[in-house]
Amino acid sequence: IPTARNLAPALTLAVSLQKGGVAKTTTSVNVAYLLAKKGFRVLLVDGDPQGSATTNLGEDAHGLELKKKTLTTLLDSRSDLPTREAITPVCEGLFDLIASSIALSEIEVSLMSDPTSSLALREKLSEVSSDYDFIVIDTPPNLGLLTASALGAADLVLIPSQTEQLSLMGIPLLLRAIDRTKRRINRNLQVLGILPTHYDPRTVVDKAMLAELRTIAERHGVELFEPISRAVAYKESVLAGKPALERTPDVAGNESFRRIADRLVEIAETRAKEYAHEPV
Ligand code: ADP
Ligand code: MG
Repeated sequence: IPTARNLAPALTLAVSLQKGGVAKTTTSVNVAYLLAKKGFRVLLVDGDPQGSATTNLGEDAHGLELKKKTLTTLLDSRSDLPTREAITPVCEGLFDLIASSIALSEIEVSLMSDPTSSLALREKLSEVSSDYDFIVIDTPPNLGLLTASALGAADLVLIPSQTEQLSLMGIPLLLRAIDRTKRRINRNLQVLGILPTHYDPRTVVDKAMLAELRTIAERHGVELFEPISRAVAYKESVLAGKPALERTPDVAGNESFRRIADRLVEIAETRAKEYAHEPV
């Protein structure tokens, strides 16, 4: 690992779309896993009260909540837990997690009375951002305060989208929210791209929807990644409590996850050079 990278704060990716089931969590977990496998220091933040990323990594969300090692405690204005103490090593210590459970939904309500809540996560992550090369934030299926906090903390947003109408309709709204976030609180925020998921190339409807996704991506000047195919291994990995790419490295769609991980490494390297004032 080049030394320049170690000087820069972590490159932070939010994985977001205000629709459930589009593979936000699957994408977050597997991209975090791939970056860690490459030898980078990775922190995954489970920013969804459903705690799916926590479960997908085989962790006991409720138990961690009792130990106060979660995002819930971290974002609780009554607690001053140092961020380092909210971190749990996962995947046999390969990378780190800030876990979540349903208790986080209560904190989301209390964030509403805090006028600076969209910067709360950014502030908490800044305590540890020099300990990591990458931070990946999984977000809930809405444009509420937790998603706003993730956008406030991120450098990049990746938008997984199922090739179906509701997901497609959500993208322009999310892009507008990203633009607002950029103008108001986080001017460096950028869209990494749109990732089509659950794709079945044999169906006419999926092909048509992919074409529509391409139109949306072009209209907004956003990169469209190759689609992730539908594969039962993703569902099985949730039950097994392990990243799908750990159990089945050659699972359908793994190439797209690998391409995204490679792209993040490229961006981080460019940024680290700028950070160290070296010629790019
Ligand atoms: P989100 O976080 O957007 O709600 P998830 O990542 O939890 O979505 O995915 C929803 C469900 O779909 C999960 O059961 C997951 O295992 C499954 N899944 C994700 N990606 C795929 C895929 N490519 N093929 C089949 N099932 C998938
Ligand atoms: Mg999820």
